[in-house]
Amino acid sequence: MSSVHFLCPRCGARLARESGEPARACERCGNPNTVVAPPADSIIASCAACGNDQLYFQKDFNRTTGVALVILGSIFVPWTYGLSLLGVTILDYVVWRLVKNVIVCYRCQAVHRGYPPNPALKPFDLVTHDRHVYGAAPPGAEEGHE
Ligand SMILES: [Zn+2]
Ligand SMILES: [Zn+2]
Repeated sequence: MSSVHFLCPRCGARLARESGEPARACERCGNPNTVVAPPADSIIASCAACGNDQLYFQKDFNRTTGVALVILGSIFVPWTYGLSLLGVTILDYVVWRLVKNVIVCYRCQAVHRGYPPNPALKPFDLVTHDRHVYGAAPPGAEEGHE
């Protein structure tokens, strides 16, 4: 099932719409929005929540889970002569290969899950991210150049 997860622009609640569902107002504050999840076979070229075309993809994988696995592996090292660590590394790799990519909007952080990969998109890029979060230049940066 394809879905879009986005934040309500008014109250910040995390909302989810599955493809085929009609648009509806925010469940928490009632703020209307027109966000619908595109059909499951769509190539996502712009954000379903805000229309922005600056998107990136990332693994739909909770890094905390990976870190927890490594810690767990380290605890058992004295009893397994390090084999647990190897096991965790393999497990981490397998999980990494199995999880699918999600497409995320740089501007509003909406997550598009369950869509075919868009070859035009690139992995997360910090420079692009900073440009969206902080703007092109901080206020006042253009002053004092004369
Ligand atoms: Zn809301
Ligand atoms: Zn967006």
